[in-house]
Amino acid sequence: MRKKDISQLAIIGALILLVILLLVTRDTVNKQPRNIILMIGDGMGVAQVTTGRIYRHPMHLERFNTMGLITTYSTNRFTTDSAASGTALATGYKTDNGVISMSPQGEVYPTIAERAKKLGKSAGVVATTGITHATPAVFISHVKSRRMQDVIAEQIADGPWDVLFGAGWGYFVPQSVEGSLRTDDKSPLDILKSKMQVALTPEEFKALEDKRAAAMLERTNYFPKASDNFEITLEMMTRKALDILSNNNKGFFLMVEGSQIDWGGHDNDMEYIRDEILAFDDAVGAVLDFAKEDKNTLVIVTADHETGGMTLLSGDFEKHELVGYDFAIKGHSGVMVPVFSFGPSAALFGGMQDNTDIGKKMLRLWD
Ligand SMILES: [Zn+2]
Repeated sequence: MRKKDISQLAIIGALILLVILLLVTRDTVNKQPRNIILMIGDGMGVAQVTTGRIYRHPMHLERFNTMGLITTYSTNRFTTDSAASGTALATGYKTDNGVISMSPQGEVYPTIAERAKKLGKSAGVVATTGITHATPAVFISHVKSRRMQDVIAEQIADGPWDVLFGAGWGYFVPQSVEGSLRTDDKSPLDILKSKMQVALTPEEFKALEDKRAAAMLERTNYFPKASDNFEITLEMMTRKALDILSNNNKGFFLMVEGSQIDWGGHDNDMEYIRDEILAFDDAVGAVLDFAKEDKNTLVIVTADHETGGMTLLSGDFEKHELVGYDFAIKGHSGVMVPVFSFGPSAALFGGMQDNTDIGKKMLRLWD
């Protein structure tokens, strides 16, 4: 071969390589995902993740290779509550503590779940607390105070949602029903029943078909603790949600909350935190398995804030023992919380950012 031919070949080869490289990086860096799954460990700071890591290795959380940290402060507090930080994640805007996806003055902030529905995608939430509770509520309702759970229930029932799994039954039934938490005769549950499958018992949950569904436990407003070994787990609800939502070939948005990591923090109860974070990690595993096979799903796992000011002092990673630990407070702390991301555009969520960047970037991907 002549020298000129060789150099021409080399140039062509280099160009082909460059094109391949550009395609590959564009694919992983700036690709619009068809599906977005946002998983929120409520109150899950680095100490809580470390607690999980001591008792389980490898955790599903270790399967991520893009990570970051986010600040969590709200517009009026150094330490946020779940309403303000959830609003930041769901809408890309900060607000005052207690406000659900609105500005402190009452201007409505559109959420990523609403954007999904606008695009013809499906959308849903899964939580181990009431679905009218702050973290799920910020995705599917807008109210001035998180305490307005009766109004949140009405807005949820009037909404276009495809999956609503958790607790919160008391706010969906009229005051005449025993155990109701309403002070009027409205029945959001009847509205839900008119447009989707509604399961009120574990048996009914297991019998749900793979189409629009709500599930909340009858006669209780709380979801059992992970340590209660209840027959329905966060992982099971997450898998069922994925079965239902993935029927839409336009895609979906799903929020999954490990709600009670926060409650373990408020109780300064290490075992409670440990059991809840491992149950959350089980759900993370189910989501990652789905995303890996689907190849068009962005997964983001983060927290709304840290709870308890937890610190770990002694133990043994090899023997899976945590002996010494302490809590600075019964409430929320202001430390940054971790972000894990996987899938198309995962790199956008790495690095050190503000909690609003998560919401803004998800919305921009689905502009
Ligand atoms: Zn809390």
